[in-house]
Amino acid sequence: MKTMWAPWRIEYIKSEKADGCVFCQALSDRNELTLYVGESTMVVMNKYPYINGHLLVSPIKHISRLDQLNQSEMGILLHTVEKSVEILKQVMTPDGFNIGLNLGKVAGAGIEEHLHFHIVPRWFGDTNALTVFADVRVIPEHISETYNNLKPCFDKIVLTG
Ligand SMILES: [Zn+2]
Repeated sequence: MKTMWAPWRIEYIKSEKADGCVFCQALSDRNELTLYVGESTMVVMNKYPYINGHLLVSPIKHISRLDQLNQSEMGILLHTVEKSVEILKQVMTPDGFNIGLNLGKVAGAGIEEHLHFHIVPRWFGDTNALTVFADVRVIPEHISETYNNLKPCFDKIVLTG
């Protein structure tokens, strides 16, 4: 098994857990991580990414289980995942993606109370390249630069249920 070296995650481990949910927070603040807010879905940048371009796609509803979504909401959620992949392909030209759901703490869910898909762009050799980001102070710049590159594309998304 490969272990990803992600030293900036220390910040996450050390930081006090926010009372509110980060997704609901991002929704109400429309902060510097919020890329897209649609009718029933939203896309935010992962503040503590494993790799640059790591996005989180979630329903707007604060729910924790897939069976709490109806069929149309499920469709829109997957459509949002697909659009996000399309934009990442365009802007960051990755070689592939890891996309998934972590359900429950045991599965590694950091924020288990609000359902979210992880979209992690991958490049050939990126597990080695991760050491490039070893300086923790570099990360916020990466995130805001990536945000500025992605935001105009997300602004053009139109999803209808
Ligand atoms: Zn929430």
